[in-house]
Parts: sequence; C-alpha cells; structure tokens
Amino acid sequence: MIVIDNFIGGEFHKPKSGQYLDNINPAVGEVFAKIANSSAKDLEVAVSAASGAFHEWSRKTLAQRSKILHRLADLIDENLEALARAESQDNGKPVALARRVDIPRAEANFRFFASAIINESTEAHVMEGHAVNYTRRAPLGVVGCISPWNLPLYLFTWKIAPALAAGNCVIAKPSEVTPYTAFLLCQLANEAGLPPGVLNVLHGRGAEIGQLLVDHAEVKAISFTGGTQTGRIIGQAAARQFKKVSLELGGKNPVVVFDDCNFEEAVQTTVESSFTNQGEICLCGSRIFIQKGIYEQFKAAFVERVKALKVGDPATEVDLGALVSHDHLEKVDSYVSKARTDGGKVLAGGSRITLMNGYYYEPTVIEGLDEYCQINQEEVFGPVVTLMPFSDEADVISKANSTPYGLAAVIWTENLKRAHAVAHQIKSGIIWINCWMLRDLRTPFGGMKSSGVGREGGSEALRFFTEPQNICVKL
Ligand code: NAD
Repeated sequence: MIVIDNFIGGEFHKPKSGQYLDNINPAVGEVFAKIANSSAKDLEVAVSAASGAFHEWSRKTLAQRSKILHRLADLIDENLEALARAESQDNGKPVALARRVDIPRAEANFRFFASAIINESTEAHVMEGHAVNYTRRAPLGVVGCISPWNLPLYLFTWKIAPALAAGNCVIAKPSEVTPYTAFLLCQLANEAGLPPGVLNVLHGRGAEIGQLLVDHAEVKAISFTGGTQTGRIIGQAAARQFKKVSLELGGKNPVVVFDDCNFEEAVQTTVESSFTNQGEICLCGSRIFIQKGIYEQFKAAFVERVKALKVGDPATEVDLGALVSHDHLEKVDSYVSKARTDGGKVLAGGSRITLMNGYYYEPTVIEGLDEYCQINQEEVFGPVVTLMPFSDEADVISKANSTPYGLAAVIWTENLKRAHAVAHQIKSGIIWINCWMLRDLRTPFGGMKSSGVGREGGSEALRFFTEPQNICVKL
C-alpha cells in the first residue's frame, strides 16, 4: 500500500493525528493508497518551515530561482511515464492523455515561470524634472495553493510554479481525491535542489486542513481552483483578513456553432471539447448551440462520432477512462435522470458502464431542453452535453449568457467579423474562435461572474503572488 505523507521542510512527515484517508483507483474501485489526514498541528509545523525558509528563498537571485525551477521541469520530463501512470491510477483518466497533456503541461508550467521571472520588467513613472517612481514587486511571504482533482498535477503546478518563481514559500493542498502526483513531485523538488521549507504539501480534507490553511494569519494569499460553492466559502474567509485571493471556479461553457462554420472541424473539435478527460475539464463545452439551418446535419454527424468513442480501462487505448469517484458517478447519473424527467431526449449514452468495478459512464448527448432547465444551468463536470438550436446572433448571445457562469466559450464561424462581435458580447473570461484548449501561458486565464475572481497566467500570476510597492525618488 502506498502511503502519501505530508512534505514539510524538505522531509516526509506522518500526520500528527496518525490518521489516514483512503485513496481509491477509480478504474477498479479499489483503495491503492493511504492519504495523511492533516490537522492544525501539521499546519503549524508547515507554517514554521515555510516562514523559516522565506528569507533565504526570497533573497536568491532571479537566475538562481530560475535554475532550480528549470531543473524541476527537467525532472518532471525525465519521470514523465511514471507520473502519467500515477495520474491515471489516481484520477481514472487515460494514461495516454496524462502522457500527452497533464504531465508535459506540469513541466511547461515550471519552465514558463522559470523563464518569465528572468524576462519580467516593472514600471517606472517619471515626473519630468521632479522625481521618478518605480514599482517594486516583492514576494508576499507564505502563500497557500489549493487545487482540484480533475487535472491534478497540471493545476497544482500552475499555482505553485508562479508562487515559487516570485520568491514566496508555499503550503499547498492538493485534492484529497487525487493527491498522488503532488506527493511524487515533492521528491523531485528535493532532487532539483529546492531548499527545505520552500515548498510544503499538506494532505487531507478540504473542509478541515484546507479551511485551516485559508484561515491561518501567517498565510498571506490563497490561490484556489475548485467548485464555485467552495470558492464562496474561501472568498468570505479570506475577506475577513483582507487576504489576497484568486478564485478559479466552475463553468457551464457554451459552444456556438454558426451555419457558416468549417463543418468538419467544428464537429470533430466539439467531440473533443465535450468529452476529453471524461468531460472533467473546467473548459469543456457542455451546452452546444447550433444554428437552425445545420442543426439536424450537425446533430447526426456529432452523435455518430460520440457513439464511436471508446470508454474503458484507462491503461489501454481508449478515448474516455473512469470518472474520478463513485460519488461523482452518482452525481453525473442523477443529472442525466433529471434531464430525462425534464423532457430531454437522450441521443447517445445515458448510462453507467459496468466494467472492472470502476466508475465508468457513457458519453452522453441530450436534446429537447431549453437553456433554463437544470442540466443547462448547473455544472455537471462529466461526459454529458446538450444540443440546442438557435436562430441568430442575438438569440445565441442571450442563450450563451443565461447561466450564472462565465468561464470559457467556443465560437465556430468562418465570418470573423461576426466572430469578434459575438465574442465581445459573451460574458466569459476565455473565448476560443474556431479552436478549443489552444493555450498560450502568457494570456490571462480565469472566469467572469460565478466562475471566479482574478486571473492566472503570465504576468497576472506573478502580480498576484507579489505586493506592488511604489518608491518615489526626488530628483
Ligand atoms: P472542490 O471545490 O470540491 O475542491 C477543490 C479543492 O478545495 C480541494 O483540494 C478541496 O480539498 C479543497 N477544499 C474544499 N473545501 C475547502 C474549504 N472549505 N477550504 C479550503 N479548501 C477546501 O472542487 P473539486 O470537486 O475538487 O473540483 C471540481 C471543480 O473545480 C469544478 O467545479 C470545476 O469547474 C472546478 N475547476 C475550475 C477550474 C478553473 O480554472 N476555473 C479548473 C479546474 C476545475
């Protein structure tokens, strides 16, 4: 049995409580690891290790920090296969997907921010003949990073890489559903030469150790990715201490398909944007709006390809693996049942798959529901999409904006004038035109409305993890 202990001050520590949680492999429904169930005592040790390491880490030159983070990126690459297998075992995603997307992206996150700090500049405001102001951006101190289960190492590193690059010491809490690759990363951090205490990882339940981390007065900022409900709790707690907070939350993303789209590309990419990672990506499109003129044609081509998707053992060549947990499988299935009782017609899928005792669900396509029914308002976060027809631009803009969310949207049209006009009216932090998941790590990443507060990526992330200080010098 694998034992996932906390990582504090460069060493692995058993939880002070002596308690562990079960970690289940969703592909087979079996416990494969024990996870430290951390408490306030573990947090105190981590805070003390992180505070103690801050002076040395924050005073390293940019080149020194950059070199260590590049080395960590190298080590992720050298261990790609083992990390990809661990990610799949923990999450249920196809190994091939982890090998192609999750782990290379974790490496890229470190590489990107290791280079970004070298190339970053700051502002100077000159008062001609009187004074010069310059903005110093100093690290905050000890910061907290809390990440979800869907892209475990990818999102974990998306937070800790900029935090560390900017000179902070980190206490990170990966999801208790998928803690394995964050645990493996700690060993690599030591090998890369990250000084003890600079990165600390505590495991356990969100409502317990996660909440304690958010509430701790020594923790100066919280970068959180997860559900909107959790984000609300964290935002309220952080506000009480005027703590900096970045919230990357849920979505109910629209895909808008105009009748002048490149049909083949639109169908194929929409299959991917619906079902990659079992639909468990915050950026997956779950509401597909199709212009009336091509509705039937698009539906037929889309459903045919969805029915051809292969679901199965994530260690083999499949399109979809297992859902992350039994609870999540139940949740996804209950949304599909509700959609049926609301009058939805299931065109593909709609059922669990009995296989190896794991948590498998068919890729599911539903039509016949309006934009206000439950499945079109709430985040399912699984392999379930709905199809809805629309008449014109005004109609689809209003439908696309009809949920409390505003994370990502996709627009398919060969008319670029129309694409820009529609993009500017969809309330969404990220818009893809004729593509999906095309990511440039320099761009601002995050959601509007209930999808979040603040932005990650590039300079936005480095700014979040630093405190600007204006220094005015009289000439
Ligand atoms: P979740 O909110 O249940 O948990 C996320 C993390 O927060 C976990 O580590 C959990 O242990 C921790 N947590 C839970 N309660 C906490 C509390 N009170 N205080 C501190 N920490 C707490 O989310 P999840 O189920 O792990 O992830 C799925 C959600 O994440 C979906 O809603 C999805 O859309 C969202 N997500 C958003 C993005 C984005 O970039 N916007 C990316 C990926 C996932």
